[in-house]
This record gives sequence, C-alpha cells and structure tokens, in this order.
Amino acid sequence: MNTESILRAAEAIQAALLAHEADIEALDRAIGDGDHFINMKRGAAAVVALRDELATLAPDAALHKIGMKLLSSIGGASGPLIASFFLAMAKTMQERGADGWPQIAAAFAAGVAAIQSRGKADVGEKTLLDVLIPVSRCFTRLAEAGTEPATLCAELKREAEQGMESTRDMIASKGRAAFLGERAIGHIDPGAKTSQVMICTVCDLAS
Ligand code: ADP
Ligand code: MG
Ligand code: MG
Repeated sequence: MNTESILRAAEAIQAALLAHEADIEALDRAIGDGDHFINMKRGAAAVVALRDELATLAPDAALHKIGMKLLSSIGGASGPLIASFFLAMAKTMQERGADGWPQIAAAFAAGVAAIQSRGKADVGEKTLLDVLIPVSRCFTRLAEAGTEPATLCAELKREAEQGMESTRDMIASKGRAAFLGERAIGHIDPGAKTSQVMICTVCDLAS
C-alpha cells in the first residue's frame, strides 16, 4: 500500500458517501439525531483537502495525519471513534510496514480494536462494529492464507453487507439509538451503513 492509493481511496470514499446521502440521512433521522451524513461528509472533505500535504508523507504518517484531522473535523460520537481507527492503524503500520496484505490486515485490526476500546462496544450492539469486526476477522484470516486480492475483496464486501444487514433487527445498547429500545428494530444502524459503503468502495479500488 502506498500514499497514492490512500489518496485515491479518500476521494472515492467522499464520492461514495455523497452518492448514498439520501439513505444515510434517512437512517440517522430514524434512529439517531440526523447528523451522521453531515459528520461523515465533513470528515471526508477535510481529508481530501489535505491531499498535497499527505502526498509527501509515507503511508503510516499519512494515516496519522488523517486521524488527527478527523479528530478535529468530525463531531458526534463517530468522530473520535473513526479518528482512533486511523491513529491506531498508523501506529501498527509504522511498526510492521504496509507492504503486504497480512500487514494491512494487522493495521486494520488494530484500528478496529481501538474503536472497540474507545467506544466500549462489541458485536451485537447495533453499531459500526457489527460491520468492522467481522470484516477485520475475515481480512486477517484470508490475508494470512495468501488469498488472491480479487477473492479477498469480494469476501470482505460480502462480510460488510452481511454485518450491515445484521444491525437491522438489533436493539441498540450503545449510541443514541439505545434510547429508542425496540423502536430501533427494523432500521439499519447509520454507522454500519457508512462503514459498509466505505469498505465496499476501498475493495472495488483494490481488486
Ligand atoms: P452522534 O450519534 O453523536 O450523532 P453520528 O451520528 O456521527 O454521531 O454517529 C452515529 C454512529 O456512531 C452510530 O450509528 C453508531 O454506528 C456509532 N456509534 C455510536 N456509539 C458507538 C460506540 N460506543 N461504539 C461504536 N460505535 C458507536
Ligand atoms: Mg447522529
Ligand atoms: Mg450528533
């Protein structure tokens, strides 16, 4: 993985989020406070605006800068969670490099673990972790088995889709949707939706 591929991913993610504005808006209006799309859009724009600065950095330093930028530009519950993902990913990448799929999977897993520890949540609580945790487990398993990129990416997209769908019938125990109790049933978690969109976008670029 190189910095150019991170920049391409950031631009593709920005475009994909904008393309899903209506669905994301509807989900956070239904079971949140309606700002998730705005939060994510602001974060993506802030990262894309860093393009020239990021281009001069190694991948781990670029991810660190992205994390710091997200920390100051996204509000809400999701800002610090997503920022912690990039900061932890950067740290693991600095230690282990970014040259192969197992290294990238290890950095991704560290990012997901950071979200878990910051948000004190796990699978089954109707959050973005219902997408990220299964995707990360699958990524580690397939990367270590030497799975070829096209198959790897197709499997990760499938996990992301499945994880997102799994939140539909859950009651939330974290975040704003937790206040709704059973009224949250029937709606996909907005953070799970944006995570699925971002993962599928990156997989399409990488395969
Ligand atoms: P806010 O809820 O503060 O308005 P956002 O709307 O941007 O922030 O983000 C909401 C999303 O954040 C939820 O859909 C959920 O996926 C995620 N989220 C909320 N709390 C947690 C948590 N403790 N752990 C993991 N993810 C969480
Ligand atoms: Mg919200
Ligand atoms: Mg909010």
